[in-house]
Amino acid sequence: MTPVDTHCPYCALQCAMTLTPSPASTPARPADAIGLPVTIAGRAFPTNRGGLCKKGWTAAELLGSADRIRQPLLRASDGSFAPVSWTEALDLVAEKLRTSRAEHGADSVGVFGGGGLTNEKAYQLGKFTRLALGSSRIDYNGRFCMSSAAAAGNRAFGLDRGLPFRVEDLDAADTILMLGSNVAQTMPPFIGHLDGARQAGGLIVVDPRRTATARLTDDGAGMHVQPAPGTDLVLLLGLTHLVLAERLADTDYLARRTTGLDQLRFSVAGWYPQRVQEHTGVPVWQLQGLARRLAAGEGTYILTGRGVEQHVDGTDTATAAINLALVLGLVGTTHSGYGTLTGQGNGQGGREHGQKCDQLPGYRKITDPAARAHVAEVWGVTPEQIPGAGIPAVELLNALGQPGGIRTLLVHGANVVVSAPDADRVRQGLADLDFLVVSDFFFSETAALADVVLPVTQWAEEEGTMTSLEGRVLRRQRAIDPPAGVRSELWIFQELARRLDAPGVYSAEPGEVFDELCRATEGGIADYSGLGYALLDMGEPAYWPYPAGSGGTPRLFLERFVHDDGRARIVAVTPRAVAAPAQTRGALTLITGRLLEHYQSGAQTRRVAELSEAQPEARMQVHPATAASLGLIDGGWVELANERGIVRCRAQLSADIRPDTVFLPFHFPADQRANLLTAGATDPVSGMPEFKRTAVRVRAIDAP
Ligand code: SF4
Repeated sequence: MTPVDTHCPYCALQCAMTLTPSPASTPARPADAIGLPVTIAGRAFPTNRGGLCKKGWTAAELLGSADRIRQPLLRASDGSFAPVSWTEALDLVAEKLRTSRAEHGADSVGVFGGGGLTNEKAYQLGKFTRLALGSSRIDYNGRFCMSSAAAAGNRAFGLDRGLPFRVEDLDAADTILMLGSNVAQTMPPFIGHLDGARQAGGLIVVDPRRTATARLTDDGAGMHVQPAPGTDLVLLLGLTHLVLAERLADTDYLARRTTGLDQLRFSVAGWYPQRVQEHTGVPVWQLQGLARRLAAGEGTYILTGRGVEQHVDGTDTATAAINLALVLGLVGTTHSGYGTLTGQGNGQGGREHGQKCDQLPGYRKITDPAARAHVAEVWGVTPEQIPGAGIPAVELLNALGQPGGIRTLLVHGANVVVSAPDADRVRQGLADLDFLVVSDFFFSETAALADVVLPVTQWAEEEGTMTSLEGRVLRRQRAIDPPAGVRSELWIFQELARRLDAPGVYSAEPGEVFDELCRATEGGIADYSGLGYALLDMGEPAYWPYPAGSGGTPRLFLERFVHDDGRARIVAVTPRAVAAPAQTRGALTLITGRLLEHYQSGAQTRRVAELSEAQPEARMQVHPATAASLGLIDGGWVELANERGIVRCRAQLSADIRPDTVFLPFHFPADQRANLLTAGATDPVSGMPEFKRTAVRVRAIDAP
């Protein structure tokens, strides 16, 4: 069996791996195959250096899982599902799409995509929605993940690429400030790139919890800063205040490369250390030490993650982190920088090619006439045939089943019943639809509510490309054939478009779709026009923008930022409202987040035996002092409740969390869904929901 080089199916680090197909896996696995169809070996690559985490090592189980859906399923009137042929399923879906459009208008059809889809699928999904369905109603689960940092990057630099430098650039840093990111659990091979900063005593982790990443600062390796949840913006304003007040700013850099400093000075003037301490709980001595360390570093990076971004003020918080980096003169050099650590496997590429409600391929604005004209020409239509901007994810989900809202929904690569905020409202919205179609390889909690479920191919069964957290375009290679009865999304789009007599051409060949994507992105911010499968297969680094003949762009902004004047924008931000501590309202603050063993909604990792056995259920992390006051014991049952829902799970006592805060992982289904409790309120700039600051009442219970 010929080994195949590819990348992990999970997170945005996209660790390199080699798959060796098992003899029984080719040419087509039998429908009842439950063995491991490939063996996995880590592969030398700059980001993972041959390492994988336990999710990557066990990913072969996804392919051979007995839980795979192997035929289209149709819901019967009694709620049960029965297998049907592809012709029957697609004929029905096409008929329902036509009916919805005829009776309620094109925007009555919604599409919800995912940040794990390949670039080719994300691109084709956007094109299919806008041309074949004529609908503007498309958005995706990356709205819950990266949208606030993306918005902040766009307004500061004119461009959003998670890391505008290479991951291995971090190796030479002596100071790294990580805000709200637990990479030791979410992407373990990444922590090797923190070693230089740790050896220099310069790893600084900001997190309300003492996470595995925070523990990397022990023994003189750095500093753990533990602010109250949701006070990151104030913390960053306070640090910027200190940098300016103590004359630690890079004034030459600010004069040459930025605009907006005067407004920033004014906006941070009132955030003196004592006031910041009162709001965040971070002592003045630590604030001062942190500001001075950042300024003294020879190579300093500021990195943000979901902990500071998944807030209703997430864009402003990420902006404040960027402002701090600009004031220190870090951005657009060869030895320092600012970046955001993308989470989902194709969280970067997934937001570049048209899944976002307001964007066309190449990260072009859908409202830009020149962008519309260019993309229309590639698609073989007129600009008028491309609908305008749609609505962001939470708004789209709130419109499900509503009068004048979404009547028919297609879901690709998302499990919104578990992953979306205010999850019970989402479940009710899905139930209120006229018709729900879910494409997935497992029977997810969202698929269980569908009228039609379409079984699709997985990572090692198809060709494609992914764009990693550093903006590097990577080839995903086919190692084995999919099970009989399973089809790729590209084929589904082609078949539905044909049934709908759609304008445009919809290839089912990934290489052809990628070539078209490259043409559509030409001249855009995320320009892929110099790329192709042949070039990528040579293994050369391919960082976008990659115009034809350019060789790509590993490090951005070295000469200029993307705004017309070449300067970065310092955008003054202030807290809209600093929330009162939750306990004064008789509640605790809930933070949601991830575990090492699970990925996203857990629809995949909960089906991998080793991962599921290690973390079979949600556990609420709580400080022992808080537990004592509530009568909670380790392993005992607890109920978390608020006006949106109730979660029942076991308690896990840990001094790693603040006494005013509890933590719940968001990977689990049914009444352990953390998102039963989170609210649908969103950041007005990016549409990012609030996942990290939810008031909950907590009490001990006997049993669920
Ligand atoms: Fe896969 Fe991410 Fe783990 Fe690497 S760190 S093996 S990409 S899940």
